[in-house]
Amino acid sequence: MKKIILLGLLILIVALFFHYDLERFLTLEYIKAQQQVIDDYYADNRALTLIGFFLLYVVITGASLPGAAVLTLAGGAIFGLATGLVLISFASTIGASIAFLLSRYLFRDAVQTRFGTSLKAINDGIEKDGAFYLFALRLVPAFPFFVINLVMGLTTLRLWTFFWVSQVGMFAGTAVYVNAGTRLAQIESASGIFSTEILLSFLLLAMLTFIGKKIVTVIGSRKALKGFGKPDKFDTNLVVIGAGSAGLVTAYIAAAVKARVTLIEKHKMGGDCLNFGCVPSKAMIRSAKFMSQVTRSQEFGIRTASAEFDFAEVMERIQQVIKKIEPHDSVERYTGLGVDVVQGEARITSPWTVEVNGQIIRTPNIVVATGGRPFVPPIEGIDEIDYYTSDNLWEMRTKPRKLAVLGGGPIGSELTQTFARLGVDVTQVEMLPRILLREDPEVSELVREKFEQEGVRVLTGHKAKKFIVRDGVKFLVAEHEGSDVEIEFDTLIVAVGRAPRSGGFGLEEIGVRLRANGTIDVNEYLQTSIPTIYACGDVTGPYQFTHVGAHQAWYTSVNSLFGIVRRFKADYSVIPWATFTEPEIARVGLNETEAREQGIAFEVTRYGIDDLDRAIADSEAHGFVKVLTVPGKDRILGVTIVGEHAGDLIAEYVLAMRHGLGLNKILGTIHIYPTLAEANKYAAGEWKRAHVPGKLLAWVQKFHRWRRGA
Ligand SMILES: Cc1cc2nc3c(=O)[nH]c(=O)nc-3n(C[C@H](O)[C@H](O)[C@H](O)COP(=O)(O)OP(=O)(O)OC[C@H]3O[C@@H](n4cnc5c(N)ncnc54)[C@H](O)[C@@H]3O)c2cc1C
Repeated sequence: MKKIILLGLLILIVALFFHYDLERFLTLEYIKAQQQVIDDYYADNRALTLIGFFLLYVVITGASLPGAAVLTLAGGAIFGLATGLVLISFASTIGASIAFLLSRYLFRDAVQTRFGTSLKAINDGIEKDGAFYLFALRLVPAFPFFVINLVMGLTTLRLWTFFWVSQVGMFAGTAVYVNAGTRLAQIESASGIFSTEILLSFLLLAMLTFIGKKIVTVIGSRKALKGFGKPDKFDTNLVVIGAGSAGLVTAYIAAAVKARVTLIEKHKMGGDCLNFGCVPSKAMIRSAKFMSQVTRSQEFGIRTASAEFDFAEVMERIQQVIKKIEPHDSVERYTGLGVDVVQGEARITSPWTVEVNGQIIRTPNIVVATGGRPFVPPIEGIDEIDYYTSDNLWEMRTKPRKLAVLGGGPIGSELTQTFARLGVDVTQVEMLPRILLREDPEVSELVREKFEQEGVRVLTGHKAKKFIVRDGVKFLVAEHEGSDVEIEFDTLIVAVGRAPRSGGFGLEEIGVRLRANGTIDVNEYLQTSIPTIYACGDVTGPYQFTHVGAHQAWYTSVNSLFGIVRRFKADYSVIPWATFTEPEIARVGLNETEAREQGIAFEVTRYGIDDLDRAIADSEAHGFVKVLTVPGKDRILGVTIVGEHAGDLIAEYVLAMRHGLGLNKILGTIHIYPTLAEANKYAAGEWKRAHVPGKLLAWVQKFHRWRRGA
């Protein structure tokens, strides 16, 4: 209401201004004609004239009314260069700040709520370089200042930054106007003050600020490299450290564009994903799923079914799967692609040199893709317990009797269900109020319900305090609502998160900056604080997925090899992921929780997969497709799919979001019957049904009635 009243008041002021043609008092002719009168008045009432002029200037600029240019000339004519400049410089900045605040108060929330996701890049740019952009705009008087005030008010720029940058940035332009005002009689028009030469000089000045920024960056880079001797010649174009998904793809692209590239791996080619992460976990999930389906045989019309298995054989199969995939990431394959693969531990010895197996490799650029390792929290007694992490659990050959899984994130949840389905008594312990906290609460609840149906004990809100062994029996003591709970186990898996592998191989010594969480700090080009060194994958984040590491690899290879010509900012606007529990969860973009937290307006469209023909035929009729769209539009803000093969189904929405296709386009696409993918189309259909043009249909109904002669 307050906003409406204020807006109404502003509209009234502007309307009155034009209705009474007050603009005529702010013309050059009028000021010229009245100059003698004003001069006389000023001579008799100095303070009053100064204050009156100041307030008038603030009101005109604050209400974004026309006439500031003529007022500035008048200021020069009445008060002279020095007084006029000081007075107008402050009045214009205060007026501009009022306009900025009015625009912010009246419109910013609405604009940010409606266009928040599209504005993200602009908001990020303003956050980082807002003062700089404003300064460049202020320098060029060709940009209408009132537009700058109003637009900046809609951004996230701080008021204080806006104030001082405006004060400094407008000073030169104001000085030119005030100075011209001192010779008012000779001026023919306000717009003619700036000769082409003066305008060009201001433009040049604005460009100089950009050049200045570039110079500051170059000086920063030089400073970071100072003290290290740059080799005269290089042995290779690029050294990549780490042959996980991020490093492998970096090397692949570099070789594809004919660069000489050296890839160094100290342990296993393929990194964590192939050897300790995605591949073994998914292979184990498959065996567990088979067992789960055997127990569900009656759902498929099979009266009884049973399966016997040996836990060790299930774990051996995982190794067979890894062996089958290994050739994709092997030394032989990459050597064949033209990559020099070196097995050994790399150590960065300068911004241009890497030591491996006692040899120094000279290179213009280095890409660090050293990944992460399981994080083991320093819980009392943990060192006295033999625990497993994703690094070594694939070596397990004896089936646990009572398993405790510490961690309710995706890895912990996948492992919890897998072991439970293989007949292990599993307790999952999570300190947060729900598992899979990154997803919407209803998603966490569905997974929890399924886990509990399958016999898992899910303990949320339980903070692990210590491990104890009593009479040879192991217990985890967890704090829950103020009291201690003892959880018995014989096997423990710690899956509480991953820490970056950023230490111990030279980064600290040469001054590569790390973030507080230990990941390597990179700019939007994935360049570290040492400009010759880039980083990608889990070691830098912000996402810890194989496909994101591979996505970043394109930027690290292209930016490091061709950065002197052109660099590209890493684009994280559409990042999908999946958690391979049952029900499977896949997501791209925002979910409801995030949209609310970020104050982004959205509409929700749901399609229940329990209604889908193929899902019913498969006895997998559960889950949903939930699409968030911009209110009233079919533009997709985010999608969550819960259900069978959700990770595959989401691909269509990833494509749609990546290429700006809305729900109408998905609805207009033929989907094969009967497939699970039809769920995507039906979700789009639900959206369409909720947005039918009612009035148009009423007319169409009338048309049909007329055709029937009724
Ligand atoms: C159990 C589990 C399941 C997962 N499931 C999925 C999934 O389903 N989907 C998904 O997208 N992601 C999944 N992930 C995450 C995924 O494994 C990682 O995001 C991915 O492996 C990161 O790749 P990377 O190249 O950054 O690092 P890594 O794969 O860790 O590779 C880094 C490599 O660098 C080497 N290295 C380190 N230091 C040096 C050095 N000084 N010299 C030479 N070599 C060095 C290491 O030996 C390692 O091989 C899972 C992870 C785990 C643990």
